[in-house]
Amino acid sequence: MIKALFAAGPDRWDTYASPLKAAFEGAGLEADLRQDFAPEEVDYIIYAPHSDLQDFRPYTRCKAVLNLWAGVEKITGNATLTQPLCRMVDPGLTQSMVEWVTGHVLRYHLEIDRSVALQDRWLPYVPPLAEERPVTILGLGELGQACATALTRLGFPVSGWSRTAKDLPGLSCHHGTNGLRDALASAQIVVLLLPDTPQTANILDSNSLGWLPQGARIINPGRGPLIDDAALLTALDIGPVDHATLDVFRVEPLPEDHPYWAHPRVTVTPHIAAETRPLTASRVIAENIRRGEAGEAFLYVVDRDRGY
Ligand code: NDP
Repeated sequence: MIKALFAAGPDRWDTYASPLKAAFEGAGLEADLRQDFAPEEVDYIIYAPHSDLQDFRPYTRCKAVLNLWAGVEKITGNATLTQPLCRMVDPGLTQSMVEWVTGHVLRYHLEIDRSVALQDRWLPYVPPLAEERPVTILGLGELGQACATALTRLGFPVSGWSRTAKDLPGLSCHHGTNGLRDALASAQIVVLLLPDTPQTANILDSNSLGWLPQGARIINPGRGPLIDDAALLTALDIGPVDHATLDVFRVEPLPEDHPYWAHPRVTVTPHIAAETRPLTASRVIAENIRRGEAGEAFLYVVDRDRGY
C-alpha cells in the first residue's frame, strides 16, 4: 500500500481528498491518503508551501514531493528537501490562465474601459484589429505557450521571450538579454509569465520599461518580484506605460497603503489568475505516483539550480 501524505493545509483537505482518492483508483494505485503519517513511512508528499511541513529530512523513504502549485519559489531554496520536487502542470489551471490573460488582453485591445466610462456620450471609436496589436509574452513555458496559442488564434501577432532559444510555429521567439529588448520594443501589450528566480527578479525595471513603446500596457499574472514597483509607478506617471493589470505582488495580500490600490491606471486582482483545479490536478498527481511506482521518470521535475 502506497502511503501518500497530504501536506497542503487542513483547509484544502476537504477539496482534494475525494478527487485524489478517485484519481488514485483511476490510475490503478492502492494508496492510503492521509494528513498524518510517521515521516519514515511516507512514500509521496502532496505539498503546498503554506503547509507546516518545512523539514523534509525525516521523510527518508519519500520518493517525490508533488507540489500542488505551478510556482515553486517558496520551496526551491529549502535545503532539507533532497527528494525530487515536481511542480504542478494542470490542464484546468492552464485553461484558467488562458481565459484570464485573454480577457485582460481583450479589455485593453477593445478599450473596454473607455466604453464603460463614456456611457452618456455618443463618441464612436473603432479599435484596430487584433492583427495590428502586437502582444509580447515573457515566459514561454506551459502557461506562456498556452496563452500565446490562444492569442495567435484570435489574430494577435505574438512575440515571446524565454531563457533558451525556441522555434515555435506562429510565434516570434526571442531569448537572452538582447532578445528581451527586441521582444519589448514592439509590444503594445506585455504579459509576464515567468517564474520567480534570482535571474527574473526586476526583469521589468527602469531600464527595460524604457524599451517599451509609448502607451504600452502590462499584465502580470506571473509573480510580484518580476517588476520593480517603483520603476513601474514612474513609467505609469511619465511614460511609456499607459496601464498595468497586476495579479501578483511582492507582499500578498497587497498592503492597504500600497500606491497600486489608488493609482488610476492600475488594476489590482487578488492572485486569482489561475488556481489549481482539484479534479484535473489530482489526475496529474496520480500519474506521477504511478510513474514513480513503475520506475518511470517523473513529470514536471523542478531543476533546483535553475529555480523552476
Ligand atoms: P514554466 O516553468 O513552464 O515556464 C517558465 C518560462 O519562463 C520558460 O519559458 C522559461 O524559459 C522562462 N524563463 C525562466 N527563467 C528565465 C530567464 N531568466 N530569462 C528568460 N526566460 C526565463 O512555468 P509555467 O508557464 O507553468 O508558469 C509560469 C509562472 O506563472 C509560474 O512560475 C508562476 O510564478 C506563475 N503562475 C501564476 C499563477 C497565478 O494565479 N497568478 C498561477 C500559476 C502560475 P525556458 O523555456 O527557456 O526554460
